[in-house]
Amino acid sequence: MYANYLNPETFKETERILKSDDVSDAMKKISEKVLMGTTLSRGEFVYLLGLKDSPDRKALFRLANAVRHDNVGETVFVKGIIEFSNYCKRDCAYCGIGASCKIKRYRMRPDEIVKVAIDSAKHGIDTIILQSGEDPFYTTDVLIDIIKKIRNHTRRPVSLSIGERTPKELELFKKAGASKYLLKQETVNSRIFKSVHGSDYEVRISLLKALVKLGYIAGGGDIIGLPGQTLGDIADDIIFMRDIGVKMAGIGPFIPTQNTPLENYPSGSADVTLNAYACTRLAIPTIFLPTTTALGTLDPGLQYKGFEAGCNVIMVNFTPDKYRQVYRIYDNKRKVEFYETVQELLKRGKKLSFSVMKSLKEEELV
Ligand code: SF4
Repeated sequence: MYANYLNPETFKETERILKSDDVSDAMKKISEKVLMGTTLSRGEFVYLLGLKDSPDRKALFRLANAVRHDNVGETVFVKGIIEFSNYCKRDCAYCGIGASCKIKRYRMRPDEIVKVAIDSAKHGIDTIILQSGEDPFYTTDVLIDIIKKIRNHTRRPVSLSIGERTPKELELFKKAGASKYLLKQETVNSRIFKSVHGSDYEVRISLLKALVKLGYIAGGGDIIGLPGQTLGDIADDIIFMRDIGVKMAGIGPFIPTQNTPLENYPSGSADVTLNAYACTRLAIPTIFLPTTTALGTLDPGLQYKGFEAGCNVIMVNFTPDKYRQVYRIYDNKRKVEFYETVQELLKRGKKLSFSVMKSLKEEELV
């Protein structure tokens, strides 16, 4: 094998794996393929997704981190999320804010959203994420105005996570200054999608492809542990995201929520979620990959473990307290606070982006 100067960490890690006596031949072959830039097969992803604590799993995580290092460096990106409305016209079986859920509803006023966005930008966050249920109350014009004002005041990238909108609207939001859009496919198994999600599978997939075509930093993603889902389905999700060209992926475990059709269904596996992070990093080396709040909801320590499996993004919540308790996509949703998060990251020796570091005052770091 020859030294690969463009991917020095991946090269070193692969060498280590190849020399290791306790790593399997399958894992050795996979690491060689990753180093050579050869795409992994569905069967190889299934193998990796199913790994339990073992030398192969440790090798997978180290390899994913080496690929992250060589392609996007060591910086952890801290993004700020504003959940501005918990109204939703859909009724997904796993979601605590679906239309039929009996919960207290709120909508933030447009000027309130802009004010919170300006405040969150002062913390130096790398992107402002505007998230809501699918809420037609916010018309195209209202959203365009919000995006423009946030861009004018903060110059921060604006990311939308507001569900399905028409291709024309997606284009107009892009022109207004939104540069990122998260529309998780949830699962590419259309049978499972149809049984748990409140929208049309083909429309959703076509919108995700439209986002890529419009030049957004488009985000896909899936839920780990949906009823009937197999490791093969999760492998298909990863291959789908790779093949259509998404640049972000939100992947989190299923978490049961009271008073929803899936309230008694067990949580998704944290191990498979972490394996899915590592596999996604191998499949799409430059991807923005958050270690998700859903994983942290299973156990706060697990969210930071995501950084050992190839993740490079974390989201902190800037939704005003009075709204936050009722933005309940799933139960016991973890509050990810800005200072708590950055202090934990710094304690763990993580490198944060310059703008975040600049916003921190000495006393806030002790
Ligand atoms: S998952 Fe999204 S689209 Fe489905 S009900 Fe919840 S907020 Fe609405």
